[in-house]
Amino acid sequence: MIVDFHVHSTASDGTLDPQDVAYRAKAFAAVALTDHDNTDGLAEFAEAGAELVESGRSDASFVTGLELSIEPGYGFDQFHLLALGIDPENAELKKLLGRVLAGRNERNKRIIAAFSRLGIEMDMDGLAACAHGEILARPHFARWLVERGYEKDISSAFARYLLPDSPAATRCYEERFHPPQEDVFRAVHSAGGLCIMAHPKYWRREWKRSGCDFAAAEREISRLKEAGLDGLEALYQANTPEENERFTRIAMKASLLTTAGSDFHGSNKPNIELGMEVDEMFVAPLFERLKIGVK
Ligand code: AMP
Ligand code: FE
Ligand code: FE
Ligand code: ZN
Repeated sequence: MIVDFHVHSTASDGTLDPQDVAYRAKAFAAVALTDHDNTDGLAEFAEAGAELVESGRSDASFVTGLELSIEPGYGFDQFHLLALGIDPENAELKKLLGRVLAGRNERNKRIIAAFSRLGIEMDMDGLAACAHGEILARPHFARWLVERGYEKDISSAFARYLLPDSPAATRCYEERFHPPQEDVFRAVHSAGGLCIMAHPKYWRREWKRSGCDFAAAEREISRLKEAGLDGLEALYQANTPEENERFTRIAMKASLLTTAGSDFHGSNKPNIELGMEVDEMFVAPLFERLKIGVK
């Protein structure tokens, strides 16, 4: 069967509308919309999904989700948390997302100032036109640069300007506020969602060079389970077959749910395709916890 529990739309830094994500996934068993830091696309997504199901054009389950970056410092550099099955109207979750958005907007001003020091004057209207909702993320800065001919593509714009390790002479990267792990787990659970660790291979920056330290991952992940983690995105489109297998084994050993995700961003990440092929057994416990069925 095909599923995808990690998908971005125009509500954050993807290029497909939420309803187009639902249409494109209508033949899947399940699909979750997991935009960065906001739930603004979920109503449109759920509505399009419900309409597809009611009109007999789809048997898929359309799952509400969200991706949040957690403050580093618990043995990892980059911990992205997928919340699955959330109530977007939950007050505690909304409050947390308000803090994250404020931190993002404040960081964006610093990025604009950094570009200005390089003589690149970014206009807020132009930037806003690269984004669709209220989330203005680095890919939108990259798109602005590409559209005005500063860079040939998104990935070269990132490399030159927008990464922590971009060359010092052109680096416009700025840190932003990331909420603490406890706050995120609490808010997601309070909104009825599951806490799933996204792309564990990106957990530590050094793993990019040295490969994943699976023994370290196993130790930290079982500790996170104690702290409230519900599952692991063991199958990830950018994983090697070995990484898929090792992370699946780590999740099972820790009695964590296993999920599969592509991290689809439309043409902002042109090499990623929507949908992941999985065995029914692999996602059965997740389906049960999300109270969705296989039709
Ligand atoms: P932000 O949340 O504003 O810091 O932006 C983070 C987003 O930038 C991530 O979710 C990715 O979608 C995107 N991103 C990060 N690194 C790269 C890269 N090297 N190339 C393309 N997109 C990237
Ligand atoms: Fe993204
Ligand atoms: Fe991520
Ligand atoms: Zn993502």
